[in-house]
Amino acid sequence: MAAMPLPIAVTGCLAVLAASLGVGLALRRHAAHMTEMVGMMTGMTLGMMTGLAAGTWLGLGADMFISNTAALLIGVGVGVGFGRWGGLMGMLEGGMGGAMGGMMGAMLGVMVRLSPLAIWGTAALMTLLFALSLAGLVRLVQTRGRRPAALDPVCGMEVDPQTAPASTVYREQRIYFCAPACRRAFEKDPERYRQLAAAPAARLGREGQPARPLTLTD
Ligand SMILES: [Zn+2]
Repeated sequence: MAAMPLPIAVTGCLAVLAASLGVGLALRRHAAHMTEMVGMMTGMTLGMMTGLAAGTWLGLGADMFISNTAALLIGVGVGVGFGRWGGLMGMLEGGMGGAMGGMMGAMLGVMVRLSPLAIWGTAALMTLLFALSLAGLVRLVQTRGRRPAALDPVCGMEVDPQTAPASTVYREQRIYFCAPACRRAFEKDPERYRQLAAAPAARLGREGQPARPLTLTD
């Protein structure tokens, strides 16, 4: 049976792992704002695709036991490590995805060792699939990863609309606050705060001026 030279198989496996860790660490700056769903997808995608690609490379050169064990550990490690951003759910999904990907990749690698074309073609194809998945993941995190933040117009704090402790509707627009006290302040003089929020740079200049009293019933 044909096989890939072991040093090349191990090198391919390590290159996949390094690329995966690089992408994962690059996504770390989005971690603070990541939604649970996107965190889950991150663990799942990185775990499964890293296990799959790393397992394939190893399986093409090493025996079933070694490639299966190593790919499983790599997949689970990466999946749980980066699934963390999706909470417990993300770690579970990442771990399971990593385990599955690792085992499937190792199996594929060992089974496909029929000819040099099958060996190198599979290595190239799985690496391409891995790269495309990671590119898709990066795009997902960049576009969908961030919670839409709202600005509390009274104190200027960023608040998450889903967890904001207070909100009100003014001129058909929902406005979110960090606390009920900020909402009360806003409702006493909405026009003033609305203008402040619209032009944050002017805040200092206007702060001292007495605002024209205005209520919601005006
Ligand atoms: Zn506030």
